[in-house]
Amino acid sequence: MDKINLLDLTLNQLETFFVSIGEPKFRAKQVFRWVHVYGVIDFNSMTDIAKSLQTKLNDIAYICIPEIYSEHVSSDGVIKWVLKVDSLNKIETVFIPEDNRGTLCVSSQVGCALECQFCSTGRQGFNRNLSTGEIISQLWIANKKLRSNYKSDKVITNVVFMGMGEPLANYNNVLNAITIMLDNNAYNLSKRKLTLSTSGVIPGINKLRDDCPVSLAISLHASNDVVRNEIIPLNKKYPIVQLIDTCRSYIKSSPKNYITFEYVMLKGVNDNLEYAKELIDLVQGLPSKFNLIPFNSFPNSGFESSSRNQIVKFQRILQEAGLITTIRKTRGDSIDAACGQLVGNVKDKTKRQEKWGTIKII
Ligand code: SAH
Ligand code: SF4
Repeated sequence: MDKINLLDLTLNQLETFFVSIGEPKFRAKQVFRWVHVYGVIDFNSMTDIAKSLQTKLNDIAYICIPEIYSEHVSSDGVIKWVLKVDSLNKIETVFIPEDNRGTLCVSSQVGCALECQFCSTGRQGFNRNLSTGEIISQLWIANKKLRSNYKSDKVITNVVFMGMGEPLANYNNVLNAITIMLDNNAYNLSKRKLTLSTSGVIPGINKLRDDCPVSLAISLHASNDVVRNEIIPLNKKYPIVQLIDTCRSYIKSSPKNYITFEYVMLKGVNDNLEYAKELIDLVQGLPSKFNLIPFNSFPNSGFESSSRNQIVKFQRILQEAGLITTIRKTRGDSIDAACGQLVGNVKDKTKRQEKWGTIKII
C-alpha cells in the first residue's frame, strides 16, 4: 500500500482516514493541530499520541514539506521563497509585510497554461497542478520561518492566491487548501482575509460561490472583449459581460461586500481614458474596487507600463464615478517577486495544452 501524505487532507478527510485504520476520530484533530498549529511533522514528536500509534503512522503515512531551494529578502522587507516541489520543478511564494498586516501570496500550479500575454508565469508554460499538500506547505513553511524571525505567532494575517498559476484550474486541491487555511484547528484565517484571484474561469467562480465563498479578485485588465481577447486568451471562452454577470451573482455570497478588479496598466494597450469610462458602464450597479497595477516588466515581454501620469488620470475617472480605485505599490521588485514576475522553474513545459480551450478547467 502506498503511504499517504497527511498534508493533503482536510480535518474531515483526516477523520475518515483515522476511522479507516481503526483509530478513534479524535486522533485526527490531535495530529491536525500538531501539524498546522504547532508546525510539528514528526509523528514521534507528537507527545499525546501513543507510541504504538506513532509506529503505525510511520508505517502507513508521512508528511511531506517541499525543500526550500532559496530565500530572497528585498530591501522593502518582502521575502520570496523558491520551493522545490519535485526533482524538476520549483515554485515561488512571497510574503509582503505591511504596517497592520502580513500577506502571503501562494502559488497553485507549476507554471500556468492560460498564456496571458503580460504575465511571466504564463510565458513559462505549464507542467502540473500543485497538490493540496504543496499549496498548504507554502503557508506552513512561511509561518515557521516568520515565527522565528518576528518572534510572533500571528505574522500572516492574509493569504492571496496570486502567485504562480490559475487557482480555479486546480479547483479541488485549491478548495481543500482553502478549507485547511480557514479551519480553526489549523490556520484560522477568515474568509475576508483569504482572497482568490482568477483570470475569469466562470464555472469555477460559480462553484466557489456554492462551496466556500472567499474574497474574490478578478484579473480584468480590459473593459471590452476586443482588448481582453488580445491579452487574456481565456476571454474568448468566457467573455467579459458574462464574467461581470458571474460576479453579480458571487457578491450575494461573498464575505466582502465588493469584488476587487485588478487592472494591469499597459501603455497603449488598455490605458486609453475611454476605457476607464467603459469600465464604469461595465460594472454599473456592482459594488467594485479597482486596483490599478503598474506593469512589472520581465525580459522580452513586449509591453511597457503606462506612465504614472496616465495611471493617475485613469484612476481619477474611476474615482469621479464613485469607484474606489487604488494604485498598487510595487513591492519586491528588486528580487523579482512582484505580481506577474514569478517564474519558479517549470521543467517539461510541454504539458501546456495545444489550446487553452482544451484545458480541464475545474
Ligand atoms: N492566475 C490568477 C492569479 C495569479 S496572477 C490571475 O490571473 O488572477 C496575480 C495577478 O498579477 C493577476 O492580476 C495578474 O493579472 C497580475 N499580473 C500578471 N502579470 C503581471 C505583470 N507583468 N505586471 C503586473 N501584474 C501582473
Ligand atoms: Fe496564468 Fe494568471 Fe498569469 Fe494569466 S495572469 S498566465 S491566469 S498566472
